[in-house]
Amino acid sequence: MASSLVFRLHDRSPELLREVLLERGWEEYDERKQEEDDWNLYWRSSAFHSSEYHNLLPWQRLNHHPKTFGITRKDCLARNLRRMRTTFGSSLYDFSPTAFNLPNDYTRFLAEYDKLRLYRGHPVYWICKPVDLSRGRGIFIFEGIKDLVYDCPMIVQRYISNPLLISGYKFDLRIYVCVKSFHPLTVYIHQEGLVRFATEKYNLSSLQNLYSHLTNTSINRFGPFYKTQKGRVGQGCKWTMSKFRHFLHSLDINELLLWQRINNIITLTLLTIASSVPSCPNCLELFGFDILVDIKFKPWLLEVNYSPALTLDCQADNLVKKGLISDLIDLMNYTSIDRLRDRAYQKHKHLCFSNEITEGEKEGFRGSAFCLLLVNQHLAELVSAFLLGPVLHGLGMLWLGPSSAIFWVDAWSSLCGSQKPERIQVGGSTAQTGKDIPPVRVGNFIRTFPFNAATLKASQHKLDVKKITQELQQLTGLLASGQSHDRLCKGDKDTDDDDCFDSLLWGPKDPPLLSQFLMNLE
Ligand code: ADP
Repeated sequence: MASSLVFRLHDRSPELLREVLLERGWEEYDERKQEEDDWNLYWRSSAFHSSEYHNLLPWQRLNHHPKTFGITRKDCLARNLRRMRTTFGSSLYDFSPTAFNLPNDYTRFLAEYDKLRLYRGHPVYWICKPVDLSRGRGIFIFEGIKDLVYDCPMIVQRYISNPLLISGYKFDLRIYVCVKSFHPLTVYIHQEGLVRFATEKYNLSSLQNLYSHLTNTSINRFGPFYKTQKGRVGQGCKWTMSKFRHFLHSLDINELLLWQRINNIITLTLLTIASSVPSCPNCLELFGFDILVDIKFKPWLLEVNYSPALTLDCQADNLVKKGLISDLIDLMNYTSIDRLRDRAYQKHKHLCFSNEITEGEKEGFRGSAFCLLLVNQHLAELVSAFLLGPVLHGLGMLWLGPSSAIFWVDAWSSLCGSQKPERIQVGGSTAQTGKDIPPVRVGNFIRTFPFNAATLKASQHKLDVKKITQELQQLTGLLASGQSHDRLCKGDKDTDDDDCFDSLLWGPKDPPLLSQFLMNLE
């Protein structure tokens, strides 16, 4: 009988994850009983060491892609967005408040501060945040330069002073985004999420009152009004996204357009690092995007959280996070093959490191039950072509970097009789052909990228950011105008996948298929 899947949690990793995995029949890794590599999922709240990516085995997954700090560190995010704004235009990358890294950008900040001091006759406010801290720690808001006092690296950002309020309270949205792959870029956004409220009414004449200006739960749960009824907000400081959706419904706005603009922010932000993240097919990452909506219903990106909190503080957390984790595990796509880990590991593992494949070795691979092979990239392609022969039923590959890769090859007949493997990975960045389209939804995770044949094509091989941004703009334009357009309904004419590629519109309750939705427009 196949054994259980095994998870390994590092230090402070979330209790809720342990609970969900145990309920699903997983076993927890025990270093006293198990070998170092004898696990299927290794989860850390902090970053993995690069060697942990290099030594991954086919049945193993990690919960972070390498090098995603380009969007999760406040200073790197500001820098990357500025670069994209310069390349692709400020009208496209206009969703994050102007930001400066201090002390380096101090002079540039001063120039902007002077320019905006009295913007159209209104005062301008700034928010200053420590680069290395989270959960609202060390943040302050100011109007006059004399109040800008800091003693560590900070980011100073234009303060969005006209937020949409509910019963007078400021809020932001925590959107859960899963990047299943960066090569090719494959993104899912969860339908559920959280709305996080400040616990004192919004008031620009008391900039020091963090309970009025910050929406972090870690701050507001200690506020004097956390437990009291606060108008429509109610007790506590969180709603589920479903409740927010219900609230939006009561307003006369183009809801779909709001969701799509948030979706655009997420895709455009991920595009800033997509080509610089090394490929790692066995990794997947959950990000928490914090979005503020202003009074004109324009969404703004505040920050991207690495390892968003998965603790349970209140009823809204209970409703959202358990389902989120469960859907995330489903996205990891474990199959019965991964359960054969222990058999492959203990009985049949042979490591062959080679720069050259001889005829004798080819025969050896065919006969061996399990084999790992380190090859250079050029050779990897040759081996991939060669090994797709009738004798071997499974072939996997892990890119180690631009110049090398590990192949894993398994003769499944010797491990599991005639059982055919359900998961076969062939090729790194070119693995996803038009015929291999990621599912439109997994639980409440909706695939938001690629969303049509053109974006699929533009994300295979070399990432064509310009083309992707054009497609995003076109779709957003249609949603804004309520007008249909043949090309988007049918996909790119020069692509084979037009008929089979469809997506769901992320955001609304019971999300419609994009093709049907567009066809129904006038
Ligand atoms: P942290 O990582 O410490 O949580 P954030 O950037 O998320 O830092 O900021 C904390 C809170 O401050 C946000 O949840 C939001 O309520 C408020 N905030 C942050 N930046 C802005 C901004 N530019 N305009 C308005 N409010 C902001």
